[in-house]
Amino acid sequence: MGARPIAVLGSTGSIGRTTLDVISTFPDRFRVVALTANRNADALLEQVDRFRPQLAVLADGELPPSDGSAGTKLAAGWDAVLEATSHPDAEIVVNGLVGAAGLEPSLLALEGGKRLALANKESLVVGGPLVMQALERGGGELIPVDSEHSAVFQCLEGAAPESVRRVVLTASGGPFRERDPLDLIGVTPDEALRHPTWNMGAKITIDSATLVNKALEVVEAHFLFGLRYEQVAVVVHPQSIVHSLVEFQDGSVLAQLGYPTMALPVLYALSYPDRVEFDTPSLDLTEVGSLTFEPLPKGRFPAFELGREAALRGGTAPAVFNAASEEAVAAFLQKRLPFTEIPEVIRGVLDAHAVEEVTELEVVRRVDGWARATARGKVDQIGNRAPRLA
Ligand code: MG
Repeated sequence: MGARPIAVLGSTGSIGRTTLDVISTFPDRFRVVALTANRNADALLEQVDRFRPQLAVLADGELPPSDGSAGTKLAAGWDAVLEATSHPDAEIVVNGLVGAAGLEPSLLALEGGKRLALANKESLVVGGPLVMQALERGGGELIPVDSEHSAVFQCLEGAAPESVRRVVLTASGGPFRERDPLDLIGVTPDEALRHPTWNMGAKITIDSATLVNKALEVVEAHFLFGLRYEQVAVVVHPQSIVHSLVEFQDGSVLAQLGYPTMALPVLYALSYPDRVEFDTPSLDLTEVGSLTFEPLPKGRFPAFELGREAALRGGTAPAVFNAASEEAVAAFLQKRLPFTEIPEVIRGVLDAHAVEEVTELEVVRRVDGWARATARGKVDQIGNRAPRLA
């Protein structure tokens, strides 16, 4: 068998770069057929030089006209991203896009019967029912790249779905786990971007500080593994060594462990069901010393509670939660919203939302647009009343 052809969406982001490192480590197993980046044309062109894909796409911006001599077709715009996703030669699509925009390519990859290596958890949060329908219709595969879900996926291998009692997702607790909540009012983007254990993109790092990310992951687990929400627990584990656990009906618990690196879940999503020899340091538990676990502190992470409530409401509520939080995080990063007001924006938008059923992509798009506009309105209201941000 030759090298498996892969399309990498979001190739210049954190997941995309990790994926390309993994691919270049295993040139006999994997090769790149298509790359898409959002705005970073220079980084994309460097990757084109290195990997010689058939197609390279810049979603937002212009690329220099290519004469085709290097064998790579260059294209721009969202339609070209979709073209890369459904590239006839790509067997695996790695979705490393950020945010709700990742849903459409996820649907397309699954409809096309491809393996979707999914790092874009928002696909399942905003359009879970649609993703699962596309998986069934297209006959493709859905393999999680999120570290917690990769852990659960690995622990579940060979298990009957009804044999699961519950899953326990671990959370590092982010940079503010031990900070007094009153102390968080003046937190700057730089402080919130300093994650203690994982090295990730900006949006997910802020989502880890508010624990919005963990709420999204609860929804992700619900759809991926067909679990009821009462079956998805979260425990704080500051060392990020145990990536998640599965408890079976007989009380036996399996966990997946490793040093925190996204290379492992990415590699597993590409190589599954094989395990390949990978030159990584062995986990030395005597060096780690102790693994500690604690409950999520009550009231410390209001955005997480809002996410769980939205999950239980179901339908379009998780999509609204996600859109409101994306807008609030963007405003925080631009210093237009205090960190502690992120949950207030989300709450305001969720309170104003009448939940609908997620029956088609158009519903998600309309509700997402409404939620963003409503969130921007809330940001302006709060921004006008809050003291000027440094
Ligand atoms: Mg995760």
